[in-house]
Amino acid sequence: MKPTRKQILDWLKTEDPDQLEQLWSQADTVRAEHVGDQVHLRGLIEFGNYCMRRCGYCGLRADNTELTRYRMSIDEIMACVRQAVEFNYGTVVLQSGEDFGFAWQWVRDLVKQIKDQTPLAVTLSIGERSLDELAAWRRAGADRYLLRFETSNRDLFNRIHPDCDDGGEGRVELLRQIKAMGYETGSGVMIGIPGQRYADLADDLALFESLDLDMIGVGPWIAHPRTPLGQTPCAQVDAEQVPNTELMTYKMVALTRLMRPKANIPSTTALATLNLATGRECGLQRGANVIMPNLTPTEYRAYYEIYPAKACINETAGQCHLCVQGRIASIGRQLGHGRGDAPNHQQHSA
Ligand code: SAH
Repeated sequence: MKPTRKQILDWLKTEDPDQLEQLWSQADTVRAEHVGDQVHLRGLIEFGNYCMRRCGYCGLRADNTELTRYRMSIDEIMACVRQAVEFNYGTVVLQSGEDFGFAWQWVRDLVKQIKDQTPLAVTLSIGERSLDELAAWRRAGADRYLLRFETSNRDLFNRIHPDCDDGGEGRVELLRQIKAMGYETGSGVMIGIPGQRYADLADDLALFESLDLDMIGVGPWIAHPRTPLGQTPCAQVDAEQVPNTELMTYKMVALTRLMRPKANIPSTTALATLNLATGRECGLQRGANVIMPNLTPTEYRAYYEIYPAKACINETAGQCHLCVQGRIASIGRQLGHGRGDAPNHQQHSA
């Protein structure tokens, strides 16, 4: 049974161990029943960090002039893609800043190459692009698109996106269009953004449902000192302010699972950044069923600094692969086989 708004708000605010235990166990049961024990791996390739946006939280923002910028070549990306095949990942996720330096034809050719040469599912996560471009990439074989709406609070959205004044409606509408094009569609939010209230998270969960999302990523907001949000001290004491903690992230992972039983939900790198020892495992035991091991070449990783002290920044793809396998085995779950399409999507396209 899906939780009511009142139950959601109670869970978001509680610190009572019994109530929390109930939430974790319900989320884990729903996860096992609807998406099973397999943990699907998505090889993440952060193929460029140029960005034309000035999002208030993100270290890639255009005005961060201290960041060394890079764009990977198709050959470099294809070398990562071959590693994904070798490691038996079912999917590669191609992520970058919003960078029109990557022409749509370039992205199309990259997608085509991957689809021609491998059995992998291809996920794009490259920000807001035109409907024509999105349609062309879909025709070229792209399977999935990730675009977080970040928060459903319209005022807060505008405050953290200085180039926007539509309260995020553009992003949300784009998600609807992406879904209509037949992409498996992913979105998500950050948790604990300064100015974010518990009621906002309840609204976020409702929007996950009304958008009928196939993939949902939620992670803590992490302060980056070279961003406006990271520089504003969060001094005001406000009982309704959502904390950007590990616990709050688990609560949102678990509630997301209760709201969207058949979606794919990752245990995110941002969670691992808050708790390197067991954050990923706890996420998997509280509703998540996906992990995104990093395939970005070590020489570029440090520059994809959306927030500081990101987990696994000095590891190689091979090290991440071994580490993730060990973590999955340690909690008695199995490695996913095949592409790991979201049952939510399969249900609709069947
Ligand atoms: N340019 C792409 C990819 C952005 S990076 C796009 O616009 O979709 C992917 C996600 O990282 C963002 O959607 C955001 O939710 C998250 N992120 C960025 N900065 C962050 C920070 N400081 N703390 C936590 N998450 C952050």
